[in-house]
Amino acid sequence: MSTANETTLTPGSIADEVRRKMDAVRSTLARTLTDASSACLTCSFQAEDMLLARLAIDIQPSLPILFLDTGYHFRETYEYRDEMARAWKLNLTNLMPEQTVAEQERQYGVLYQSAPDQCCKLRKVEPLFRAVAEFDVWLTGLRREQAKSRAALEESAPFTLPGGKQVLKLAPLADWTTRDVWYGCEALSIPLLPLYARGYQSIGCEPCTSLPLDPNDPRSGRWSGRKVECGIHIEAAPGQ
Ligand code: SF4
Repeated sequence: MSTANETTLTPGSIADEVRRKMDAVRSTLARTLTDASSACLTCSFQAEDMLLARLAIDIQPSLPILFLDTGYHFRETYEYRDEMARAWKLNLTNLMPEQTVAEQERQYGVLYQSAPDQCCKLRKVEPLFRAVAEFDVWLTGLRREQAKSRAALEESAPFTLPGGKQVLKLAPLADWTTRDVWYGCEALSIPLLPLYARGYQSIGCEPCTSLPLDPNDPRSGRWSGRKVECGIHIEAAPGQ
C-alpha cells in the first residue's frame, strides 16, 4: 500500500520493516476513520505525531487535528506548526486554556516553577479533555519506547474522560521505535521540527524542556526530571 510520493528509503531490512509497519498503520487508520462517527488526532508537532498525521490526512484530509497551545511553546514550534498547517492544509484547532499566560501568572505566579502539575492541568489537561469529549475516537502518536511510564501502552483502549464519557484511544505507533519514526519521516519526506537538530529528543513547553539529561531516556529533558507526564494520558479516576 505504499504511496506514489513515498521516496526511496535506505535499502535494507530496516527500511522494509518500517515500510511494513507503515502499511499496517495505514490499514488501521483506514478502518478506524471509516468506522468512527467522529475522530480527532492530537498533535504536538513532534516527529511521531507528524508521521501519524501525514498517514491519517492522506486518508481523511479534513481530520480534526488538535494542538495544545499552552502559550509556553518554543518560537520554533509555533513557526513550524504554522508552516506545516499551511503546507498540509491541516484542519487544525489550537486548544487554548481559559487564562492567558499573563492572567495565569498574575493570579498564581509562575506555576511551571512552583506547581507544574497545576500548570499542566490548567494549560493542557483541561483544554484537551474538553475538546476530546466532542469525539468518539482519539488518535495519538504515543509510543511505548518514549518513556517507562508508557511501556505498557495499548494500541487500542477505551479512555474515560472526566465526567464519564468514554472514547476509544488509539496509538497506532505504539510499537514503533525512534529509529522507525525517523525512517518513516524520511520515507514520506516530512520536514521535522528544527529543534531536533539542536539535540532535543522530546519537545514540549519551552520552560519545561531541556536537552536530555540521560542520553538513553528521551524524556529525561522534560520537567528537569521533576515529573514525567503532563497528565493528558492519565484517565480520570472513577466518579471524577
Ligand atoms: S509543560 Fe510546563 S509550561 Fe507547559 S503546561 Fe506543563 S508546567 Fe506549564
